[in-house]
Parts: sequence; structure tokens; C-alpha cells
Amino acid sequence: MQYPGYSDYPEVKESIGFTQRGCRMRCRFCVVPEREGKARATHTIHQIWRGPPHPRKVHLLDNDFFGQPESAWRARIGELREGSFRVCFGQGINVRSITDEQAEALASVEYRDTKFQQRRLYTAWDNPRDEQRFFIGVNTLEMAGIPPTHLMAYMLVGFDPMESWDGILSRFNKMVDRGIKPYPMVFDAGRRDLKAFQRWVVTGLYRACAWEEYRSSQQSSVVHLSNSRWKKEVSADGKPLEISAHG
Ligand code: SF4
Repeated sequence: MQYPGYSDYPEVKESIGFTQRGCRMRCRFCVVPEREGKARATHTIHQIWRGPPHPRKVHLLDNDFFGQPESAWRARIGELREGSFRVCFGQGINVRSITDEQAEALASVEYRDTKFQQRRLYTAWDNPRDEQRFFIGVNTLEMAGIPPTHLMAYMLVGFDPMESWDGILSRFNKMVDRGIKPYPMVFDAGRRDLKAFQRWVVTGLYRACAWEEYRSSQQSSVVHLSNSRWKKEVSADGKPLEISAHG
């Protein structure tokens, strides 16, 4: 199957698509369950791959790869392995519910970052209350042979009006201490302090200078954070307008 739109992007060599749609979870800030419904299988790897001469690189946009029936995800893992594909799970794997079998399946394929260079699995720790489930999942992956240094974890910031800077930095530091690369996702783009935090993290500056130091240097553009209610981008019925979709 050929997906439309590649001709507009000749620099894209990999093949992009979905093996499944929908998600088993219902995170409050995310519209995927509402828009896509229940998790289900949609395409095989061979339907997504454009075939020779395109490289055996597949960028999956699945929001819940393991949400499709077990027979389907096992078949997709088999295709990836037997076809010697490199695969990017760019939207993230839901580490909160990962099983030993699923971790072993991931460890058996050539997972890569979005540039298909580094070993990388994407996941998320959005809700501070998920700490225990998140690290149980990290441990499960590690036991299967996927070290935390291969993980990049999206961390939603600015959604919970009660989360303090101590909470944000604690979540960040716990991931860094395990060797995980955090990637802050700012819920409200108007929050310049959180956008500065995002820059401090994704540029790697956090390795060179402390947050308070960086924050001071940005003081003119940083809005002081308090525990008061934050402005959010929401619709009239209070639901988020932006999609923040990841496992
Ligand atoms: S954020 Fe990820 S896990 Fe949560 S509902 Fe959306 S797609 Fe599913």
C-alpha cells in the first residue's frame, strides 16, 4: 500500500504509517481516545514499507502499539525482525503497562530514534502519580535488555495546576538519575517559564548549568511560577485543544 504525500517530501526516505489506531488509555489531556476510539490493528509492516529501493526503515505513528490484539503485535514484531527493518516508535510505547513478553519483543527489534541513527525508544511520564508504574516499566525493559539510556521520556508540564517547580524538577531528576532522557512537553504554549525549561532540557544545557542559573539568565522572559491556576488552552467544554499523543 502506498500512502499519499511522499512526493511532497522527497528527502523522506523511510516509510511512515500506522500498524494500529486508537489507545487503551484515557489520559485527560489527550484527544486520541476520543478521535480514534478503541485500539485496533490496521496495517502490516509490509503494507507500510514502500518496498525497494526504499530503505528498510519504518517510522510508526502508532499511539498504542501494544493496544492491538496480541496476535497482531506479535505478527508485526515478526515482520520487523525477519525483514531486518529498523523501526522508530516515535509516538511512544506505553511503559506503564508493559509486560515481560512485550519488553522482550521490543528488545528483539532494531528500534531507532527519528533519524534512524541511535538506539532509542520513546515513552512518557506525564502524571507524577504514575511514578511507581513508570519505573516498574523501566525496570521491565531493562530486564529484557533495553537500558534506560535508550529511553527518551516525554514529560507533560503545565497541565496540573498544582504541580510545583519542586515537583517538576523532581520528576525530571528521577529520570536523569536513571539515565533516561526527559523531553518536556509544554501544555500551555503561553507559559514562557516552562518553554524556557523545555529549552534547558532539550538543548542539553541541564548538563552544564543548574536550572536556577539558566532561569535567572532568562529572567526577563520568564514568568514566575506559582501554584495558582494556570491558563490553559481549552475548548468551551474545558477539554484541551491541542493533541498531546504519546504512550
Ligand atoms: S497520551 Fe498516549 S497513552 Fe494517554 S490516551 Fe493519549 S495516546 Fe493514549
